[in-house]
Amino acid sequence: MNARSCAIGATGVSKLVDTFGRQVTYLRLSITDRCNLRCRYCMPEEGVDFLDHQSILSYEEMERIARIFFRLGVNKIRITGGEPFVRKGCLGFMQRICEQNPGLKLHLTTNGVAVLPYLSDLKKLDLKGMNLSLDTLDEKRFEEITRRNKLETVLSVFHETLRLGIPLKVNAVIQTDTSDDELVRMAGLIKDKPVALRFIELMPFSGKEHVERSMELPLETRLFRLFPGLKEISSNNIETARRFSATGYQGTLGIIEGESRKFCGSCNKLRITSSGMMKNCLYDKGVLNLRELLRTDITDSELAEEIASSVSKKLVNGKEAARLNEKDSEESMASIGG
Ligand code: SAM
Ligand code: SF4
Repeated sequence: MNARSCAIGATGVSKLVDTFGRQVTYLRLSITDRCNLRCRYCMPEEGVDFLDHQSILSYEEMERIARIFFRLGVNKIRITGGEPFVRKGCLGFMQRICEQNPGLKLHLTTNGVAVLPYLSDLKKLDLKGMNLSLDTLDEKRFEEITRRNKLETVLSVFHETLRLGIPLKVNAVIQTDTSDDELVRMAGLIKDKPVALRFIELMPFSGKEHVERSMELPLETRLFRLFPGLKEISSNNIETARRFSATGYQGTLGIIEGESRKFCGSCNKLRITSSGMMKNCLYDKGVLNLRELLRTDITDSELAEEIASSVSKKLVNGKEAARLNEKDSEESMASIGG
């Protein structure tokens, strides 16, 4: 494939289209399943079966994938994990995919524990956005949830990211024991800052342990009770979160719904797990083993055809994908990348 004639990623017109007419323009790439936290809804405390070196994609393999996807029309790549910065060489990899795909919008999802030394380089890279995961502002609770004592570090990353002017979103997973006080305290982060705070409903991706997910009251009802003047902001329909403004807050509040999946009709996303499995939907079990294909003598054009053919079969919604995905054990978000 000729890079110049086929570099359509920057134009936003995608060759990746499914039978429902949805175009894929956004790829979430998980570069490792390893992590420096052990969030209780994502990984067990001990005994995690991490992938061995051979089973994860190499940086060269992921660079090739990024180039092919960009040429096919993907204009946004989010680097995620596990924790991306526990993998040595993460920054260099991000720099190379920016150089190789001019116009690509690069994003990062991180827990903030190891990213502080890299923030100014990420700014130089023109990182288009960072999602910082932070569930609580209480030190003891942070440690209970993540099984590590790193709140202070994550808060430094919050402030430094804003100081550098990198667009920032904070993702907070709402658990059965997340109190109203906690929600209001978290909202303090956006009172006088241009930050999107998104509350995530728990999803069934906890690694080995089953996580209790029932809530007494729907999150939306709680937010309307807690925040005066809460008003839904109309979305462009491809956003993952429903967004709200509230009186007295500069930033926005958001809800990322777990299983209601209101956004399937306009889904523009693909995921690649750390082992190189392509997923059309968070809830499918993987539709194309890219690692296997990459380790044959397949050409870029052939690989592009395989990818486009798998995307064309994307199912109508997450409910259908989950119905066809019979799992023995719960998959972890750490290998999928969120
Ligand atoms: N380690 C990085 C982080 O935490 O930001 C990136 C990977 S993490 C799997 C991506 C996102 O998935 C995080 O915001 C995390 O809170 C969320 N997540 C993990 N397990 C989840 C679950 N069972 N339900 C909902 N969100 C989950
Ligand atoms: Fe690590 Fe992110 Fe999973 Fe927490 S949610 S254990 S930070 S991968």
